[in-house]
Amino acid sequence: MTTATVVGSGPNGLAAAITLARAGLTVTVLEAADTIGGGTRSSEAIVPGLLHDHCSAIHPMAVGSPFLRGIDPGRYGLRWAHAELDCVHPLDDGSAGVLHRSVAATADGLGADGGLWRRLFEGPVAGYEQTGADIMRPLLRIPRHPVRLARFGIPATAPATWLAAAFRGEPGRALFGGVAAHAFHPLNRPLSASIGLGILTAGHRYGWAVAEGGSQRIADAMAAALGEHGGKIETGVRVDSLADLPPSEIVVWDLAPTAVARILGDRLPARVARAYRRFRYGPGAFKVDFAVQGGVPWTAAAARRAGTVHLGGTFAEIAAGERDIHAGRMPERPFVLVGQQYLADPARSVGDVHPVWTYAHVPHGYTGDATGAIIAQLERFAPGFRERVVGMSTCSTAEFATGNPNYVGGNIMTGAKDIPQLVFGPRKTLQPYDIGVPGHYLCSAATPPGPGAHGMCGANAAERALRRLR
Ligand SMILES: Cc1cc2nc3c(=O)[nH]c(=O)nc-3n(C[C@H](O)[C@H](O)[C@H](O)COP(=O)(O)OP(=O)(O)OC[C@H]3O[C@@H](n4cnc5c(N)ncnc54)[C@H](O)[C@@H]3O)c2cc1C
Repeated sequence: MTTATVVGSGPNGLAAAITLARAGLTVTVLEAADTIGGGTRSSEAIVPGLLHDHCSAIHPMAVGSPFLRGIDPGRYGLRWAHAELDCVHPLDDGSAGVLHRSVAATADGLGADGGLWRRLFEGPVAGYEQTGADIMRPLLRIPRHPVRLARFGIPATAPATWLAAAFRGEPGRALFGGVAAHAFHPLNRPLSASIGLGILTAGHRYGWAVAEGGSQRIADAMAAALGEHGGKIETGVRVDSLADLPPSEIVVWDLAPTAVARILGDRLPARVARAYRRFRYGPGAFKVDFAVQGGVPWTAAAARRAGTVHLGGTFAEIAAGERDIHAGRMPERPFVLVGQQYLADPARSVGDVHPVWTYAHVPHGYTGDATGAIIAQLERFAPGFRERVVGMSTCSTAEFATGNPNYVGGNIMTGAKDIPQLVFGPRKTLQPYDIGVPGHYLCSAATPPGPGAHGMCGANAAERALRRLR
């Protein structure tokens, strides 16, 4: 029987492992940390019983992931839950851009920009299954649904600033800009609208879901699916050289390309080694989890009902902040994402104390402490927040990288999403999962379709391995 080893148990490693095990291979996953899940871990922190997501929190791309849907994760205990509102973007005057799951409800709330919102999303959302099939795999392929893909893809190629200019009001413009900023990339660059449009389209189709019981349940459900197909997972096993691997015909690496270059050394063809060593990492994240008595006292009432709140003010302010962090400068008012998962999943709270998940966009490898800047952004849109905080814990860029070596310099995207890396992955090739060593494949979020807890990089890499095996 063919044996396979997967290094790393992030959602992509687990998806690769399940895909291989389902095809009849004997699969072992080796994970450096003591717990599985990579970016989908959760644990109790700050106050006993208060449940915090370490990394991924909100999952519009995962719910619709063809891989995850294919394994029916509900069978393994994964339940998606939704807050009343998907995302709110408050502004200084007390108004806010409000993202509902429904395109129509969102458009109705955006006044003069409602028509633009409908034009951008009605078609792609209606055809999401087809468009998704094309965008959740390497982009340079003959599309399966060219007309649908073109409808999504034409605005996606534009810089986010161009689309922003088409909005007449700030609530809609800032709402779009906050989601576009998820790319951690300057918003005036070509293709910078693409990640935001992808998230918004998936979100309108499936909602900005949280995993009931914490994002760890995503990894646990995948581990259960793997176990059902005979796969095994060993934790606390860090792979630093080929000698650490058991004999295997297939090896799938859920790691950053630079780590693969280091581990495989001169086993890699020179051109691949060069590309992997030069792989570019983007700006970082600085995270603060809060325990908040009574929740965040938002000025904009809608933010009290939203699973996600984006703090960054106007589109222009967000764009300036993203430009700064890209250039290595820490802005005074960084873009901050706030997760209120407990609104969808109340069991995460302890009485009236709620877990509030936040992170700021900061420069790559930022060595400062962004806690004050995050609290200042919260106070700006929720005066009195500080008095409600009963405890907090922080994670710096260095701590992200220590906890998970894939997050180099705190770059939680596993690589900068500039044009070549967004289009091709870690090197210019039509086969982004191949690494040039027979039987070895790369499956981390550095490969298409990129970051998120959707598992599609892993599933695609394993499919590629299986095709070559046959
Ligand atoms: C703060 C934060 C917020 C996020 N928010 C969201 C969100 O809301 N929604 C969303 O969809 N996504 C979100 N993400 C992104 C998402 O978590 C990642 O894109 C996703 O986890 C990537 O999966 P992966 O399998 O490629 O790698 P990872 O999840 O990074 O897993 C890699 C695994 O490999 C292990 N490993 C590394 N080196 C070795 C080694 N040498 N030997 C053995 N094991 C090793 C690591 O310990 C880790 O478990 C967020 C990430 C962070 C950090």
